[in-house]
Amino acid sequence: MKTSEHTIAGLLQGAAMLESVSDSPRLDVELLLGHVLGQTRAYLYTWPERKLNDDQVHAYKELLERRRGGEPIAYLTGLQDFWSLSLEVNTSTLIPRPETELLVETSLELIDLQDARVLDLGTGTGAVALALAKERPGWEVLAVDVVLEAVALAERNRCRHGLDNVSVMDSNWFAGLAGRRFDLIVSNPPYIEPDDPHLLQGDVRFEPRSALVAKNRGFSALETIASGAPAYLKAGGWLLLEHGFDQAKTVRALLRASGFVEVASRRDNQGHERVSHGRKPG
Ligand code: GLN
Repeated sequence: MKTSEHTIAGLLQGAAMLESVSDSPRLDVELLLGHVLGQTRAYLYTWPERKLNDDQVHAYKELLERRRGGEPIAYLTGLQDFWSLSLEVNTSTLIPRPETELLVETSLELIDLQDARVLDLGTGTGAVALALAKERPGWEVLAVDVVLEAVALAERNRCRHGLDNVSVMDSNWFAGLAGRRFDLIVSNPPYIEPDDPHLLQGDVRFEPRSALVAKNRGFSALETIASGAPAYLKAGGWLLLEHGFDQAKTVRALLRASGFVEVASRRDNQGHERVSHGRKPG
């Protein structure tokens, strides 16, 4: 075996193995090798001739093999960036997506209060709750999830970023929240149709169906939240929902049917209506 095979530059050639499974093979190998070395990608460019020891080579090759089998990079490294936060991730819940940052952006725009009470339903890693809490230290954010492993994960992410204005608890949507009232309720619930062919492709194959799929053509969770939210909102409070690119019209109708006003949708970077919101009459 050529010794150059164990240098950083040599090992990054493994990108060729990922061409058929990934849109970003070079980035993928850089993230995996950086993860094994506990170093940034900049380090890899600074020290291309540096050699790895046998354990490191072994660990890297194992990750490369798993990536070749389709596992998402975030599950292999255990980390995903969202907003300005690096979050721990695992297979108990969805990997935070860039398009979900629209939920954060829209919340920050719509809520003009120093001390809002906020609820994040189905928090998963805690991504949305933690991003809002970081941007608005005066807000009190409650993050809930029905999956106990996700609750534990969100709590670890809360600690990781020292966000004392977030609490995490388990609740099946509103079930554990009797008597509480919020200025803002946000959610990125499951909204994919059970037989959507996209579930058989790419990263989503490794994510839990409970975080992705909803009955009633993907609308059952969106509907549960839209119809339940008014009882948990203060007068003038907002509900913001992420949904599929082709679900905005139906979600707006669900919001109106539940008594919301000022109902509208926002487009993500791809130009898809991705977030819809409504306000409880004041
Ligand atoms: N946007 C994700 C996807 O299409 C799904 C997220 C969700 O169901 N909440 O892969």
